[in-house]
Amino acid sequence: MKQRSPLAFFALFLFSFLANAQDYPQDEFISPLEMPLFLSGTFGELRTNHFHAGIDIKTGGREGQRVLAVADGFVSRIKVSPYGYGNALYIVHPNGYTSVYGHLQRFNDTIQAFIREEQKRQKSFEVELFPLAKVFPVKQGDLVALSGNSGGSGGPHLHFEIRDTRTEKIINPLLFGFDVKDGRSPDIYNLEVYEFDKEELVSSYTRSLLRQGDGVYSLTGNSLIEVSNPASFGITTTDRLDGVPNKNGVYSIRMIIGEEVYYHFVAETFAFAETRYINSHIDFAQKACCRRTINKMYLEPNNQFSAYRVKERMKLTDLVADSIYPVNIEVSDRAGNVSTLNFELKYSPPEVELAEAPEPDLPKFNYAQTNFFKKDNFQVVLPEGALYSDIYVQYEKKAACSECLSFIHEIATREVPVQKYYTLKIKPDAEYHGDKSKLFIASFKDGKLDDYEGGRWENGFVVARTRQFGEFAVMVDTVPPSVSPVNFRDGSNVHGASRLSFIISDKLSGIDDYSVTIDGEWVLFEYDAKNRLIYTDVRALNLEDGERVLRISVSDDKGNVTEKTYHLIF
Ligand SMILES: [Zn+2]
Repeated sequence: MKQRSPLAFFALFLFSFLANAQDYPQDEFISPLEMPLFLSGTFGELRTNHFHAGIDIKTGGREGQRVLAVADGFVSRIKVSPYGYGNALYIVHPNGYTSVYGHLQRFNDTIQAFIREEQKRQKSFEVELFPLAKVFPVKQGDLVALSGNSGGSGGPHLHFEIRDTRTEKIINPLLFGFDVKDGRSPDIYNLEVYEFDKEELVSSYTRSLLRQGDGVYSLTGNSLIEVSNPASFGITTTDRLDGVPNKNGVYSIRMIIGEEVYYHFVAETFAFAETRYINSHIDFAQKACCRRTINKMYLEPNNQFSAYRVKERMKLTDLVADSIYPVNIEVSDRAGNVSTLNFELKYSPPEVELAEAPEPDLPKFNYAQTNFFKKDNFQVVLPEGALYSDIYVQYEKKAACSECLSFIHEIATREVPVQKYYTLKIKPDAEYHGDKSKLFIASFKDGKLDDYEGGRWENGFVVARTRQFGEFAVMVDTVPPSVSPVNFRDGSNVHGASRLSFIISDKLSGIDDYSVTIDGEWVLFEYDAKNRLIYTDVRALNLEDGERVLRISVSDDKGNVTEKTYHLIF
């Protein structure tokens, strides 16, 4: 075997250490849009309960921009949903990558017709198809769809992803040579200082920063931070690109204390299954209480997110007492603009050994094992790995709400993140003689109804699965959804109307399903969930003129159904 020179070895080390565009093809993908790339979202950006999986490309505030296949390949998956990516298209390319296009308004005519057939066949607006390679081959630059605002999108844009076809891991699209202009270095807003006692967070506070010049930040006031416990830090930071005001995510964050790299995050690639580790990546309590998204620069023991580069070294600082250490925090964007924050850190342990704080008299949940909790009519089963670190569990029984069938049980708080679903069981305190299948668990925030958690009746308890802590109680949903036509009523002449629309909503358990027939035949109504709207394109129905009977049926998650009939003149 050929001997590697030390230099080659060093280069290899460097290559594996730095995320490196050279690992990815640079000129195989064209832009999915025929307009300059301005981004309102970047890969790895810190979002609610997830890291952003792609880039969000601005479409000039409008829907209907032509979306092109970025390379040759075939359509491998088509999904229509009122939630998430809305109308989404996946194209497999021969180079081993899959491109994904989300929040589309519609697909090209061929795919759209194919989807309409399938919706009719399944009698469902929501469909997901996995066509074989020969069904929809595409050439680079082919029109595959029009951009839109469908699904969980908050404004017209194209959500674009690149995935490794084999592993399905998502990769930062900006590693593939797309032309995105960015001449600005990232903004750093604040430094958070955390102090620990034996791995347990005991205090945190915020230091404000001064922008010294382009990309150079320092602490306001004293540039020496003194701590009396092992410490770590967090920062708030975003990146702005040329020509757009959006505060996007940064590409990498690295912290060096003394000579040691203590933290290194790079938004290169990760798997979907890991995305909820965002809630350990950030200071979740600060997000829950105060809407601050702080990027912590230490790891909780059960943070298994794979986008860290020096994981084994990402622990709490291990410093010699009374020495002063330089701290260097470096934040970069994908274009290579770098911002730095430098200050000094001194660890001064208390001179007199303090008496150990007594352990709180509370049950402790261990993140590495299954945990059980039982109190009166309230039970919790929390699986192994549902927590990021051990917690002491506060429990409190509070007064019931006026429509509650149980007391409000509070377990831990909304400020403690939960990675995995756990089981919650509550026995009603008030006798309920009605249909028990209508009972469910509701969560509350500061005593106010917040979320529907679902639930089924089992041995005298309502049992639900959830991924949050806080306040819970049993409620009942016997109220069917509300259904109101937007542009007609019973007896209307709708000849010449382009759309028929209904507003559908449901108070407690939420809309589960709906169906509309005209003269007994199922007809497609599209669902725009965020606007609580269902609608159909009248011309696409191809109805002959005359009087017809439209029936609509809408059900909620607890099986309450609203049915209405309209006689309409087409
Ligand atoms: Zn997006």
